[in-house]
Amino acid sequence: MASSSRQSCFQCEDASSAEFRNGWRLRSGEFAQLCQRCASVFEEGRFCETFHSNDDGWRDCESCGKLVHCGCIVSFHAYLLMDFGGVICMECSKLNFMLVRGD
Ligand SMILES: [Zn+2]
Ligand SMILES: [Zn+2]
Ligand SMILES: [Zn+2]
Repeated sequence: MASSSRQSCFQCEDASSAEFRNGWRLRSGEFAQLCQRCASVFEEGRFCETFHSNDDGWRDCESCGKLVHCGCIVSFHAYLLMDFGGVICMECSKLNFMLVRGD
């Protein structure tokens, strides 16, 4: 077995990155370790559109029409399910909550 101290990127398996950063939380409770390139894509919120664009599960936000990758652990915190079906992205849900609160 190779030494477990040798990290590789969760997404691209690149082990040459000088630094690894936390991505999303895995079912194990640990964070996915990402190389600098993949981490910056993740931190900009473009991970799914960059790496999962051919996958199933893309749906439009009911409010702004932005595509969100439903059922994907990477996008788990990026959208909410609506009571009547459909999804809403986090930015729109924040706006809606502000409207509800600020009567
Ligand atoms: Zn990577
Ligand atoms: Zn995804
Ligand atoms: Zn939206």
